[in-house]
Amino acid sequence: MKAIVKHSPEPNGLALTDVKTPAITDTGVLIKIKKTAICGTDIHIYNWDSWAQKTIKTPQIIGHEFVGEVVEVGRHVTNVKPGQLVSGEGHIVCQSCRHCITGHPHLCRQTVGIGVNMDGVFSEYIAFPAENIWICDENINHDVLSVLDPLGNATHTALSFNVLGEDVLITGAGPIGLMSVPIIKRAGARHIVVTDINPIRLEMAKELGATAAIDVRKQKLSDAMKGFKGMQEGFDVGLEMSGSPAAFTDMIDAMANGGKIAILGILPADTKTDWDKVIFSSLTMKGIYGRQMYDTWYRASALLQSGLEHEIAKIITHHYDYRDFAKAFEVMRSGESGKVILNW
Ligand code: NAD
Ligand code: ZN
Repeated sequence: MKAIVKHSPEPNGLALTDVKTPAITDTGVLIKIKKTAICGTDIHIYNWDSWAQKTIKTPQIIGHEFVGEVVEVGRHVTNVKPGQLVSGEGHIVCQSCRHCITGHPHLCRQTVGIGVNMDGVFSEYIAFPAENIWICDENINHDVLSVLDPLGNATHTALSFNVLGEDVLITGAGPIGLMSVPIIKRAGARHIVVTDINPIRLEMAKELGATAAIDVRKQKLSDAMKGFKGMQEGFDVGLEMSGSPAAFTDMIDAMANGGKIAILGILPADTKTDWDKVIFSSLTMKGIYGRQMYDTWYRASALLQSGLEHEIAKIITHHYDYRDFAKAFEVMRSGESGKVILNW
């Protein structure tokens, strides 16, 4: 079968390669991939940054966002049948640690990432653990089903704190920040303010229902805040979705006392924090890794069925045949896109 393989430890280093179609185990499922989406993680691997250098062992098939059809199941598999349209949770957990056995597998320290620590889904077929399969509603747009994984990140982060009647700041209008806007709107926030430095993405945030989209290169968030009717001290809830230290500093400065921050963006280790502000403003901070299994999958799928599908479809801006993956990666790296899909 054909697969996109990170073959050498250097920037780019990707090639469409003939590899052996994987065999399934008794508890595995063989999936014919229909669509995959490119994640920021795949761009880190492409760029071969310091995280990729210490994490990825070449050669390896990359990718973890997908939708496909089950073509074969192992003999112990009972939860899914050939012919079903599926996506899957890319975090494989140990199933035996304290968190796994008490219903919090997203906290498992032994988590192994598909397309990161082992071969991924940018290939014609993937052998996937049956317990990580998510059965999809065939009536939902299949492009949208291929981005259930980042939609799960957005759902997990956006619903970490109650936003009903609250003012919410989202730093970063990348695909996940954008997905969070219509979720937060449905959850009943008053002002939804999005910041970025990318005019195309800020425009998308406005279209998706943000009350304000601020280009922080042109306007200071503190100046813009004076115009948000009813807001007294600052934001009640913050969603950090940029991974930018400057955005994180803006957020800490802009929170109301007692505010709550969910941090998804992967901030550099040396990011500085004004701890006086955190402590004397009594802020709560929560780190977010991945999705809640399988609460966020269920909730995100239900939201799609109740109309969120149409807003998420707007965040998908480009489609390529998998053979044109180099073009797809270029578009994603330019920042002038929402989600980019590869058709298989
Ligand atoms: P992305 O890189 O596409 O989006 C980040 C956005 O932040 C970009 O649009 C960028 O222009 C913007 N930005 C840069 N500087 C800014 C500033 N000073 N102020 C405001 N915005 C600024 O990423 P994405 O795919 O949407 O993911 C969002 C973040 O979440 C990334 O940091 C990603 O690595 C991280 N992530 C974390 C997890 C997890 O499990 N914790 C999972 C997926 C992604
Ligand atoms: Zn575990």
